[in-house]
Amino acid sequence: MTAAHIDTATLRRLPKAVLHDHLDGGLRPATLVELADEVGHTLPANDPRELADWYYEAANSGDLVRYIATFEHTLAVMQTREGLLRTAEEYVLDLAEDGVVYGEVRYAPELMLKGGLTLPEVVETVQEGLAAGRAKAAAAGTPVRVGTLLCGMRMFDRSREIADLAVAFRDAGVVGFDIAGAEDGFPPADHLGAFEHLRRESVPFTIHAGEAYGLPSIHQALQVCGAQRIGHGVRITEDIVDGKLGRLAGWVRDRRIALEMCPTSNLQTGAASSIAGHPITALKDLGFRVTLNTDNRLVSGTTMTREMSLLVEEAGWTVQDLRTVTVNAVKSAFIPFDERNALIRDVILPGYEAAL
Ligand SMILES: [Zn+2]
Repeated sequence: MTAAHIDTATLRRLPKAVLHDHLDGGLRPATLVELADEVGHTLPANDPRELADWYYEAANSGDLVRYIATFEHTLAVMQTREGLLRTAEEYVLDLAEDGVVYGEVRYAPELMLKGGLTLPEVVETVQEGLAAGRAKAAAAGTPVRVGTLLCGMRMFDRSREIADLAVAFRDAGVVGFDIAGAEDGFPPADHLGAFEHLRRESVPFTIHAGEAYGLPSIHQALQVCGAQRIGHGVRITEDIVDGKLGRLAGWVRDRRIALEMCPTSNLQTGAASSIAGHPITALKDLGFRVTLNTDNRLVSGTTMTREMSLLVEEAGWTVQDLRTVTVNAVKSAFIPFDERNALIRDVILPGYEAAL
């Protein structure tokens, strides 16, 4: 399969939407070095370039648990007001640089309490940093709409409290909820109390599922917990044989459940074995609502532009395919329907029109 090469500058200009991007997985290496110095945290490398390489190596272990362990260093600098403000502001500026026009950022407030901030203070501070980044990006002519997802950690027991936090901040930039952390051994139904509360309060949520654990995890996330989207979901392919969909795969496709797919991250954790063979392409061709995401830009050494480039170069994707997954992402964003429509009509489609 040979596809037309698309140069990086063109890919960078394409309007993008990212639904699955962790705040604590996306710091700039230079910022991490500076902030670690300020708080006295020892990093595995003190040169930003070496540090970026260290992340990439550590993340390439093929093991989700080890991949997650690399976050101790980013989290170490996200315990103070200064650290949170800076990482949140730079998060938005980096999306703008990457051509992203809509981003949902997620993080676990319960992991950011070691410096004495309370849960609401963590959320307020991150929102303040995001607002500062949005103002600068807009002033530079590259506006980015940002929504926040609050994560409960699946191996801990604070998810119900974090669900309350999501409800409390729903009119202040928080658009939804997720559970993150090790999937195997920590099934989503352990957090049913949080999900039932969110459903009663009409707050949407996504659940990481079908990455390190298979179909039962996706089934539970959708049919027991009631998730509106699935984080990763690569292993839904286990319910598709010779192009024929089983009941769960049929539910995902037919109900238009968005799959937040993250190709590079999936290679690193062993959930997929190559970009060319990553299920995102087959699922797209079968009509699933697949979306393209970065997951953790620092940890995976990636950007949306890079993920797009990999699919173009190694899986034969076209600009039309990139437009499809971008429109898919905005359709499944946790912001109001009229805003999603306006983004697609006024920003996404004209941007691709100009590139075609
Ligand atoms: Zn993730």
